[in-house]
Amino acid sequence: MLSKKRLAQQPPHSALDLPMMLKTFEQLDYPVKEYHILEFQRRLHKSKYPPLSQFDWSSFPVRFVEIMMANFVTTTSKVVLSQTSSDQMTTKLLIELHDGHQVESVIMRHETGRTTLCVSSQVGCKMGCTFCATGTMGIIGNLTAGEILEQVS
Ligand code: SF4
Repeated sequence: MLSKKRLAQQPPHSALDLPMMLKTFEQLDYPVKEYHILEFQRRLHKSKYPPLSQFDWSSFPVRFVEIMMANFVTTTSKVVLSQTSSDQMTTKLLIELHDGHQVESVIMRHETGRTTLCVSSQVGCKMGCTFCATGTMGIIGNLTAGEILEQVS
């Protein structure tokens, strides 16, 4: 049975979670350079989010790589269901987070050629709209910055 509150995430954290990266380097007393953080994020996005074991670590300091490999992974959540509408314009993704709670993202393809993505930032919702299944759950917790960005990746 799932907890009514989100469980605090233990390592490994999402490599897309910039605040957690900064916190981890600080806790380990490693004087990380902003340049390395920005270059890591840029390379991760450009290379389309490979596992960190296959990431191009060339030119990064050894200690930086050790900390990242020991404390982070590229994704902490996974898509468990994908449903596309009959007109192919909308795809709903059911995503399971590290603690077993699930959220939804929706990809919307517009006739203009634009594609937009509706992401979740919380598990549950406190608004309580009676027509909405999420509203009946109440608020369970927030997603981390990494969990929100993983929906985009
Ligand atoms: S309860 Fe549902 S419809 Fe109402 S604000 Fe929350 S998510 Fe939206």
